Formats: sequence, structure tokens, C-alpha cells
Amino acid sequence: MVDLFHLPNKVTLNNMLEKNMKNRIVCWFSCGAASAVATKMMIAKSNDNQELVIAYCEVEEEHPDNKRFLKECEIWFGQKIIILRNEYYKGSIYNVFESNYMRTPAGSPCTRALKKQVRQKFQKIDDVHVFGYTAEEENRLNNFIDANNEIDVYSPLIDRCISKENCLSMIENAGIELPTMYKQGYPHNNCVGCVKGGMGYWNKIRVDYPETFNRMAKLERRKGYTVLKEPKTGKPLFLDDLDPNRGRMSEEPNIECGIFCHAEEQIYNAVRLIKERMGRYTIAAL
Ligand code: SF4
Repeated sequence: MVDLFHLPNKVTLNNMLEKNMKNRIVCWFSCGAASAVATKMMIAKSNDNQELVIAYCEVEEEHPDNKRFLKECEIWFGQKIIILRNEYYKGSIYNVFESNYMRTPAGSPCTRALKKQVRQKFQKIDDVHVFGYTAEEENRLNNFIDANNEIDVYSPLIDRCISKENCLSMIENAGIELPTMYKQGYPHNNCVGCVKGGMGYWNKIRVDYPETFNRMAKLERRKGYTVLKEPKTGKPLFLDDLDPNRGRMSEEPNIECGIFCHAEEQIYNAVRLIKERMGRYTIAAL
């Protein structure tokens, strides 16, 4: 019987193994290099008595090469990956956007519908969740833990100081070809045409995936919403009005779209709003 009141929120591998906890381990695979390496490490370190499952929330708009990557990872893991998907929306961000905004200050509805809700349906109360947060992402992990006190989290990459670069090399060393989006210079392997991307990102999508760019641009006009805003005025900026020379993807914030990102986003957006308001009050008080 698991004592739910004494489970640590930030699980370490040693206390998990030493206490011989029988909780199910869920490795959240995202078709990214970091989650693949975290899963591989967890499989190697967990013992045979523990149930370990690998779960993936499928989104229709991810690059088709992800299916190849997933299959190769299954061979590397020696284990099948459970593919989950929100059938109500047929796993597609465009179906979500039919009845929602594309992006709001509190996050994006596609993350909520296609990742968060899918994860909630799958998880059990005493699961230990394994994530591919890398060594440079400890703050993100801590924010995430703050926002998700009810679940137990383990991050093998942070435990072992493994960086994102290390993960990319480890995948290549395993003889697995990196997913196409990485090879094209994108820093992540999320949807092709992610609504959390900035101007530089969308200008690269315009070049690499013109059909996706046009599809989103048309959707924006039909719905009257935009994924981009003018940074200084906050006014909507339609993709078909975006100057092809604006933005630099390398200077834009990382796109986060994990299965728990929605909760995280709500926290950091709330903090940003508070800071903005405090700044305004401070200026007004001077
Ligand atoms: S990667 Fe971007 S577009 Fe795709 S589900 Fe996540 S936030 Fe939405």
C-alpha cells in the first residue's frame, strides 16, 4: 500500500528504488531527443518489479518523420510506446481552433486539449512521471513542480547533468537519425507551424513549409485572430502581413508544449502579468 502522504514530490531515483516503491512509472515521450534519452535512462535504471510504461500524446500536425523516429526509439527502448490522442478533435490543432482562440495570454488551447486532457485521462493518482527536462532546465522543472504539487516527478537528465546538446549526441550515437525538424535548424520538434512560435519562427516556416504557413494565415483571416502580436503595441499581426525579414528564431524564447505545459504557462503568465502591473504602478508612483 502506497502512503500517499509521504511520497516526495520531487522523486529521486534512489529513494524510489530503495523504498521499493511499486508505483507505476510513466515516461512521457514527445518525439524530442531529451524525452527519448530520459526514457532510455529510466528503462536502464528501473528494476523488473516496477511497471514502466512509455506514453506519447500524438498530435496530427507534428512532422511525419516523427513516426519514423518513434519506431526507431521503440527498438532502442525494447518496448512499445503507448500512443494517446484526443479523438474528439482527431488529434488536430486545427479542429481545436475551430471552437477556440489559437493562443491566449493563459496559454494555448491546443496544448490543453491535445496534451493536458489526454494526460489527465491516462494518469493514475500514484504514478511517478518521468520527464526529459535537461540540465539547463532546472528552473523549468521547479516551476513545474510548484504548479503540479499533486504528482510525483522524476527528471533523470537533471539528476545526471545531461544537457540538450548531450541528448542530441546520445541519439545519434545510438544510430538513430534525428527528427527532421532538428535537422532543419528548429530547436524543438513540436508541431510544424506551432502557434507559440515567434516572428522568426513563422518566417522560417514560411520558407520550409509554405502550405502550413498559408493554412494558418487563412485560418487567422477567417477567424479574425492572430498567433502573433506587435511586440510594442500588442496589436494583432496577421501572418500574411508579416514582413519576411522580421524576427530571428535564435533569439526567440523556447517553445514549450509538454503535457504539463499548460499549468506551467498559467503560472509564468500570471507572474509576467503581475510584474507588468507592478512595473506600471512603480512608474506611476515615481
Ligand atoms: S506544439 Fe504548438 S501548435 Fe502543437 S499542440 Fe503544442 S502549442 Fe499547440
